[in-house]
Amino acid sequence: MAGMLYLVPTPIGNLGDISQRCRETLESADFIAAEDTRVTLKLMNHLGIKKPLISYFEHNKASKGGVILERILAGEVCALVSDAGSPAISDPGEDLVKLCHEAGVTVCAIPGPCAVITALSISGQSTGRFCFEGFLSTAKKSRREHLDSLRKERRTMIFYEAPHKLLATLQDMADTFGTDRSISLCRELTKLHEEVVRTTLGQAIQKYTDTPPKGEFVLVLAGAPEEAEPAASPDDAAARVEALMAAGLSRKDAIRQTAQELNLPKNVVYDAALK
Ligand code: SAM
Repeated sequence: MAGMLYLVPTPIGNLGDISQRCRETLESADFIAAEDTRVTLKLMNHLGIKKPLISYFEHNKASKGGVILERILAGEVCALVSDAGSPAISDPGEDLVKLCHEAGVTVCAIPGPCAVITALSISGQSTGRFCFEGFLSTAKKSRREHLDSLRKERRTMIFYEAPHKLLATLQDMADTFGTDRSISLCRELTKLHEEVVRTTLGQAIQKYTDTPPKGEFVLVLAGAPEEAEPAASPDDAAARVEALMAAGLSRKDAIRQTAQELNLPKNVVYDAALK
């Protein structure tokens, strides 16, 4: 029988968020690949499930990925979990999923807790169009380059960030997008001290300079405001009226149509046409 890989999301703070399907998948898997086996063991104990655990994390993923794949190819079912949230989103699971696809192994993702979506939905920012930017680099130059590439981004942007880097990141964001840009700082989601601060970059810097940030954060940054279309000039209006009259419209109709097309008051178009 062919093995397969299940991506099993785990709670990002509230143990009650584990779903029935996640429990059943963990129970029926042959083994569990975990980012930190100590963290996962606590969850397994809470659920009363005993399973062989294998560690799969950033610094062993190159060697362990092949080991896990071989076991799956030999017919075993693997459940992949990260420390918290959805595996493969800003964690090493991404590489294992690629490996499985390349080897023709079936991958099944179970929907569940995910910090990026939880933050977006509670943020109070526009949710219609958004982009997930993951963690910014710790190196100042590439962090700046990353932010620079987002200067004109209209969609809501979502970032993961560690508390000790929060202030530097907010400062870099303010330098790039301006202190007035709206941001929601979503902290300790689903936990006892869950908090959403919807403010501006400038005020966020002030707040966390006064009180150093603690806990886990997702930053949800508003997109760039739409640039106002440059207003048409009286010369544009006069030229358009002339063109419409040359095409056969009466002066009155040409002025009405020009005012509509260029979104200008009729009297402005009228004065421009007279001159
Ligand atoms: N794969 C996980 C997911 O997408 O749900 C995220 C893994 S990533 C290594 C960890 C980051 O997710 C943290 O640094 C933080 O930015 C965010 N995060 C995780 N849990 C959180 C929580 N309860 N509240 C706020 N942010 C959280």
